[in-house]
Amino acid sequence: MEFDLSPEQEDFRKVMQEFVDSEIRPYAAKWDSESVLPLHIVKKMGHMGLFGLIFPERYGGSGAGFATLCIAIEEIAKADSSVAITLSAGVGLGASPVFHFGSTEQKDTWLPRLCSGEILGAFGLTEPDGGSDAGSTMTKAIRLSDGEWSISGAKAYITNSGTEITKFITVTANTDEGVTAFLVPYGTPGLTIEPAYRKIGWHASDTHGVVLEDVRVPDSAILGTKGKGFAQFLATLDEGRIAIAALALGLIQGCRDESVGYAKTRNAFGGPIGRYQGVAFKCADMDVDVEVVRGLVYKAAWLRDMGRPFKREAAIAKLYSSEAAMRAAKNAVQIFGGAGYMDETPVARYFRDAKILEIGEGTSEVQRVVLARQLGLKS
Ligand SMILES: Cc1cc2nc3c(=O)[nH]c(=O)nc-3n(C[C@H](O)[C@H](O)[C@H](O)COP(=O)(O)OP(=O)(O)OC[C@H]3O[C@@H](n4cnc5c(N)ncnc54)[C@H](O)[C@@H]3O)c2cc1C
Repeated sequence: MEFDLSPEQEDFRKVMQEFVDSEIRPYAAKWDSESVLPLHIVKKMGHMGLFGLIFPERYGGSGAGFATLCIAIEEIAKADSSVAITLSAGVGLGASPVFHFGSTEQKDTWLPRLCSGEILGAFGLTEPDGGSDAGSTMTKAIRLSDGEWSISGAKAYITNSGTEITKFITVTANTDEGVTAFLVPYGTPGLTIEPAYRKIGWHASDTHGVVLEDVRVPDSAILGTKGKGFAQFLATLDEGRIAIAALALGLIQGCRDESVGYAKTRNAFGGPIGRYQGVAFKCADMDVDVEVVRGLVYKAAWLRDMGRPFKREAAIAKLYSSEAAMRAAKNAVQIFGGAGYMDETPVARYFRDAKILEIGEGTSEVQRVVLARQLGLKS
């Protein structure tokens, strides 16, 4: 049995820590308060090969694997969840569907630029009328007599959909054959990106609604198999859930480290607050969750890298880690007292950034539905 990362992965973690300490942590609060997605950091992450970690060399990736991607996301999320989700979604939602389901032409056209971080792709599954029940998509694609498709509908809360380097969105739409995925290049007439949402967290992550009005695309825009679009997108989300759990792992560590530091230096009743069990035990519980979540994340990533089934482990990792992140953030704010309620305090940002982890890429309830089904229970 082996619990250690490989020497290459250990070295990679050190590189990530240096990058985060010098280029992300010092600016995270500023980007958050200004709601700015730092595109120069996206570019830098591209140069570091972070967008290509799980893709083969022929597309400009390194084939390092999903566990290595999790290390990158974990390290970034210790300091900045917005940058971490930009990477996570860029790889897991933008590039992965193209890699797994794209035609040779689609892969050759898009993957090298996605792997280098030159461009981002968006993933449009959720609609204004429903995200959990995404199979009942209202967006429609009609095949016209000239062989083109006309797509009309709307997608809601789409990550990385409005940046100046986003070049396409993959969307699910109803067709006569069932739900089908299409890759729609930006600039296609009828495709509109709505203004950015004002969110309670992930301020420096880019999120917009996307409207499709009689968007015309050729047959070659179909991503994967006609009628299998929903199943394809669900498979995409299985990987994404491990990445979200890695993000939660970083956030919990951020909460723990900030809390321990504060508990040692903040005084009350003649000594540091960390000597009171009401404070110290909260820190201890965060440390337990770091260890539990680490095991869940890297077990699921390892299964995925081994080519073994990982749906159940991804759902468990996502469910447990997101709820643990919320717990850790709530306790971290409590330990900081009034200072924890001030926007400029890192734990206040962690608190705002934690909630989405229980919602995005399948809510906690949806993870429980997935797990109940794995147990053979109809849910
Ligand atoms: C910041 C952000 C970024 C996002 N990025 C993307 C993206 O890039 N691409 C994308 O496609 N989507 C994205 N989403 C959408 C996200 O995946 C959905 O919000 C999420 O899946 C929930 O869907 P919904 O909001 O429609 O809630 P609903 O599905 O309406 O659910 C509302 C409530 O009902 C509960 N519920 C629903 N069905 C059941 C059930 N069967 N049993 C028990 N409870 C149930 C849910 O758990 C939830 O608590 C993003 C969302 C946010 C906030």
